[in-house]
Amino acid sequence: MKWLLLLALLGSLASASGFSTVVIDAGHGGHDRGGISGQRVGEKDLTLDVARRLRDILQSNGLHTVMTRVDDTFIPLPQRSAIANAQRDAIFVSIHFNSAFRSSANGFETFYYNPTASGIAARVQAGLMQLEPVENRGVKRRAYYVLRKTRIPAVLAECGFLTNRNEAALCMQAGHRQELASAIAKAIEASR
Ligand SMILES: [Zn+2]
Repeated sequence: MKWLLLLALLGSLASASGFSTVVIDAGHGGHDRGGISGQRVGEKDLTLDVARRLRDILQSNGLHTVMTRVDDTFIPLPQRSAIANAQRDAIFVSIHFNSAFRSSANGFETFYYNPTASGIAARVQAGLMQLEPVENRGVKRRAYYVLRKTRIPAVLAECGFLTNRNEAALCMQAGHRQELASAIAKAIEASR
């Protein structure tokens, strides 16, 4: 009887980490530009660009992908979570860029809420930190709406500060955005 319980437990653990679909959420969109007021480099277009690049990499590696938006449209947060929750054997990855009134603020940080996503969040953060010698702001548990309301494992990556002169300049380069997408894709693939 104990063995049966153990086997059942192992089975549930295996299915929690195995996934075939990645829901990719490009932060903001439409009238919601993201960032802070007066920010020169806008957030919503860069999140969409990285999300598209991430989609292309994951698809070429055989993963099924679902985008919460594919163009410059405002998608309310409940709709983003609903799209995620309609998927089976899936994880949710939200792409954002950071902002701060202190222009020296820099670096990467990755958020999760449900503990099932802590491993994926750690791998995403580690992958991003390999790109640039910037501040490691760490992996943090936060009750952000899309993380709290999404029942599949969900992470939110902050891919650098657009209010930081150096990081904004990097993020304006397509090659850097491809590196961001590639680092996140590798972390996702290592989490399967
Ligand atoms: Zn954002």
